Amino acid sequence: MKLEADLHTHTIASDGYSTFKEMVESAAQKGLKIIAITDHGLRMDGGPRIHHFLNIGMWPRAVSGVEVLRGVEANIIDGDGSIDMPEMLLKDLDIVLAGFHSEAGYSGGSVEENTRAMVGAIKNPYVHIIVHPGNPHFPIDAERVILAVKSYGKALELNNKSFDFRPGSSSNCKLIAKLAHKHKLMVAINSDSHICYDVGECETAIALAKEVGVEEDHILNSSANLVKNFLARHHAAKPLAS
Ligand SMILES: [Zn+2]
Ligand SMILES: [Zn+2]
Repeated sequence: MKLEADLHTHTIASDGYSTFKEMVESAAQKGLKIIAITDHGLRMDGGPRIHHFLNIGMWPRAVSGVEVLRGVEANIIDGDGSIDMPEMLLKDLDIVLAGFHSEAGYSGGSVEENTRAMVGAIKNPYVHIIVHPGNPHFPIDAERVILAVKSYGKALELNNKSFDFRPGSSSNCKLIAKLAHKHKLMVAINSDSHICYDVGECETAIALAKEVGVEEDHILNSSANLVKNFLARHHAAKPLAS
C-alpha cells in the first residue's frame, strides 16, 4: 500500500531540521499528493511564534503538484483536554492534530486523567486527528479513547516515529491498531518527520496496520480524496468563528 498524503510533519519553524521548501519538495519527489505541515503548538519549547500562524495565509496552496495543508500539532495542556492554540488561529488552519508532549503544560497523570484529557481534546471541534496515542509516558484507556474518536468522527494516528523515538510504544501501538480495526475507526498513518528525508516514510506503521488487518479504506491518508472529504466534512461542521 502506498500513502498519498503525509499529515504530520515539522519544519525549522518548530523543532524540525528542514525548511518548508525542502519538506514540500521531498513530498513531490516521493510522489505524495498532499503534505500537511504541522509545526508544534505555541506552548512547546522551541515552538513557533504566534506570527507563524497569523501569517499562515501566505503559504502557497500547492507546490510542484503537491497540495500543502496548513496545520498544527497542538499540545494538550491540561486535564480537560484544552489545547495551546486560540480559536482565532485555529479557524484559519486546514488541519489540527492534538497530542500529549511532556514539556508543554500537562505532564501526564493516571490512566483516568490522561484518558479524560485526550477525550476532551477529541471533543474540540477544531481537532481532526489525535496523534501518537501509544506514548507510554501518557497511558490511556485505549478503548475509551477509540470510542470517543469514533463517535466524534475523528481519526487516530499510527505514528511511524513512535517505534524508534518513544520507547515502549510498540506494544501500545499494536493494541491501539487492533482496537481501531475492531471498531472500524479511521486511522492516519503519519511520518512525524522532522527532516525532509523522512517525509512519507511510514513502513513500520503500515506493516503494523496490515498485520492487524486495518483495511485500506480505513486509512485516511491512503487516498487524497479520503483526506479532502474528511476535512471538508469537519470544516462544514465546525463553529463559526466569533
Ligand atoms: Zn508529537
Ligand atoms: Zn510531531
